[in-house]
Amino acid sequence: MNVFVLNCGSSSVKFQIINTDLEMFDTDSDRRVAKGLIERVGKDDAIINFEADGQPPVKTTEPIHDHRQAILRIKKWMEDPATKINGIHSWDDIHAIGHRVVHGGEKFTKSVKIDKEVLAQIEECSDLAPLHNPANLKGINACSEIFGDRIPQVAVFDTSFHSTMPEEAYMYAIPLDYYEKYKVRRYGFHGTSHRYVAYRYRKLLGIPKEKVNIITLHLGNGCSAAALRKGESINTSMGLTPLEGLVMGTRSGDLDPAVIEYLYNKGTGSVADIFNMLNKKSGVLGVSGLSNDMRDLEKAAKEGNHRAQLALKMFALRVKKYIGAYLAELNGAEAIIFTAGIGENSVLMRKMICNGLENLGIELDEELNKQAVGGKCLKISKAGSRIAVWVIPTNEELLLARDTVRVVRDVPRNW
Ligand code: ADP
Repeated sequence: MNVFVLNCGSSSVKFQIINTDLEMFDTDSDRRVAKGLIERVGKDDAIINFEADGQPPVKTTEPIHDHRQAILRIKKWMEDPATKINGIHSWDDIHAIGHRVVHGGEKFTKSVKIDKEVLAQIEECSDLAPLHNPANLKGINACSEIFGDRIPQVAVFDTSFHSTMPEEAYMYAIPLDYYEKYKVRRYGFHGTSHRYVAYRYRKLLGIPKEKVNIITLHLGNGCSAAALRKGESINTSMGLTPLEGLVMGTRSGDLDPAVIEYLYNKGTGSVADIFNMLNKKSGVLGVSGLSNDMRDLEKAAKEGNHRAQLALKMFALRVKKYIGAYLAELNGAEAIIFTAGIGENSVLMRKMICNGLENLGIELDEELNKQAVGGKCLKISKAGSRIAVWVIPTNEELLLARDTVRVVRDVPRNW
């Protein structure tokens, strides 16, 4: 099947076309045949980047006023005779569409085929993720308008992998009414990424799901940790929203909630202003005053910039704290897995995180750590390390495509 994988943000539309099917999963013979990104959707100078495998990329700037127009632009590119995508000549060659949906609330514990009822339920979850779900819905609605019922659409949720968390992990210690009335609880995010790297780990070692007792660390622009027992998420660092947990590029992660009232009383702005600061101006950007990009901070830290050094130390310390917590919760783990932009590439950050955890059984091999960059999948702990440390590149789009196939073919997922 050719699956069109779509990830719509508020001002961006990202896609991949992946050729995959059930019999290809075991041999990993699925193939991405095209990918692209439209940024600044809603503006006259939207930035378009399309690429078919083995072809030079197309880069232009054009007015793209909404998500519908963005998808029509992708369609036009795909159907242009000058574009040569392996196995695709028109939209008739697309067999299913897989949408990334950020928040599935408590309703969605797995990926589902989209129909009117599902659409209404995703809409209901929008107040839990007001920055994300409305954009995902725009993508779904645009595809329905353009393609009607001809192409099945599937929703894959960031939250659903964490639906296995026990009550004591997902409840907040506030009056129960708030959970019952407003569904205030931990949901967790990056589920497709945690699930994907855990699946890869299981395949690499050739072990059954029941033997997967690990900690997964998704460290990208957004960051989250998860504790997996017998292959299922039992806790994760993000909460009701993606603001909780680790220090991130621009998000604060954990902080005393009293800070919000204190800052409000000091006249720093409305509650919305303060949350904007916590989401967009905090994290390593806020601490360093320089950048949200780990590469810039590593460079500045090396040159002696104290604030950059502090940001790196705070980032590493918070990850250590979660490793410690999850080791306790799991009563020990077999492996720790690093993934996403920082996890897959930052030799320094992995070293800072693992440094000083030897007594817990985590011993990094410095040479192997240096080799694990640019998308390599590698075990980076010493041979004698009680807990193995791995770098496993994530591939959320592939998991989205495979889930889409499973749902369309009505085959339950075994992972
Ligand atoms: P997202 O969470 O948006 O998917 P990514 O997983 O792509 O983000 O991670 C992007 C981040 O990864 C960048 O902001 C940067 O901090 C970090 N990163 C990427 N490459 C490197 C590198 N070579 N060294 C250190 N950090 C890197």
